[in-house]
Amino acid sequence: MTYALTWLPTVLEKAGLKVAEVPGWRTRGRREMGAVRGVICHHTATMQLGNMPTLQMLVDGRCDLAGPLCHLGLGRDGTFYVVAAGLANHAGKGSWEGITDRGNTNFIGIEAENSGHGDDPWPEVQMEAYQRGVAAILAHVGAQSNMCCGHKEYAPTRKPDPNFDMPLFRTAVQSFMLGKTPSPLIAACDAKRRPTLRRGARGGAVERLQRLIGVDPDGIFGALTEAALREVQRQVCLVPDGICGPKSWAVLSGDQPLPAPAPGTSLHGQPGDGSARMKVGDAGLELIRSFESCEDLQADGRFKAYPDPGSSDGLPWTIGWGSTGDDIDQNSVWTQEQCDARFAADMAVYAEQVVSAIGDAPTTQNQFDALVSFHYNTGAIRTATLTRRHNAKDYAGAREAFGWWIKNDGKVMRGLVRRRKAEGDLYAAP
Ligand SMILES: [Zn+2]
Repeated sequence: MTYALTWLPTVLEKAGLKVAEVPGWRTRGRREMGAVRGVICHHTATMQLGNMPTLQMLVDGRCDLAGPLCHLGLGRDGTFYVVAAGLANHAGKGSWEGITDRGNTNFIGIEAENSGHGDDPWPEVQMEAYQRGVAAILAHVGAQSNMCCGHKEYAPTRKPDPNFDMPLFRTAVQSFMLGKTPSPLIAACDAKRRPTLRRGARGGAVERLQRLIGVDPDGIFGALTEAALREVQRQVCLVPDGICGPKSWAVLSGDQPLPAPAPGTSLHGQPGDGSARMKVGDAGLELIRSFESCEDLQADGRFKAYPDPGSSDGLPWTIGWGSTGDDIDQNSVWTQEQCDARFAADMAVYAEQVVSAIGDAPTTQNQFDALVSFHYNTGAIRTATLTRRHNAKDYAGAREAFGWWIKNDGKVMRGLVRRRKAEGDLYAAP
């Protein structure tokens, strides 16, 4: 049967938020919810990279607790994943505002992707979406901001999540509810009347976007278009949210110059204003290749794609020197030249992203190479603690923080331990 919370996506979308519906969500739940009185905020506490790697567990549950484990998942990019319209096992025993041991019955549960460790800062786009989404839900059910609480407030002796300050969070929620921060995250269209496009959009504007980003122009904004858009946004230093709003239109169609990268760097090879633009050196290339060996050589001398050895679902498919992307799947077969060319192109992109993340912080070639190797493997140069430490000239601290990134799908991987050690050693080498 279809459960009661079918209004969730509409309410969130009207608040200007990104929403993805997880198939089957309308009929997913332990049973019907009671009256919604408020929202309980959680973080997933799983140690995985990526936007919403915990999603499947939120749907299925864990060995000790049946799913669904929440109504909404919140990805690091601020996307709300609608998991269930019925009752979810997220709260357990506890009490908030006089409602006792009825957290699952009377509260909507939101699980935001975050490890809960200090090394995993909350992206601004995710935190803003969290506050805005809670505000929209509370307004819809006719509750005030006091009806949003942290799991750690509802069950203080059992739960530490979420790891941010809840009174401050409620203040921000309240200001959204009062309309003090009214502008939606993304306007519905830009000054030239180009509509904001996201997954699910159709029509001529989608075709135009697809031509701009090199996707087959079928006029349907699906997963491939979204992935291609994210990649292009990453390359031009826009927020890679997979949504084509006013900023993306302006940059992609050439109305506006590319956003300025950090001082002293440039995206397209113009001379920077002083400090030289760094490229990956030989030591870095050697290190990366030693961990990304061209696997699966066939009898004809070409290379086959292989599943990611560390992840539980084998995704993403990988080829050559660790290359991944929408153009790579289990049927991909590349020559050595193709592998090498893609590696060189990827290195240039990753090096630019590292340059942009470290700005004009003084950096040796060895430090730079280690940072690029780290970023090529994790994609996390913008948010990692080691980047902040490096930029603050805390080189010993940065070296130490390489060693924190050793898990994949929650398990310590020996290959990652070795790689982080090698990167830390290169980083510290004179
Ligand atoms: Zn929780």
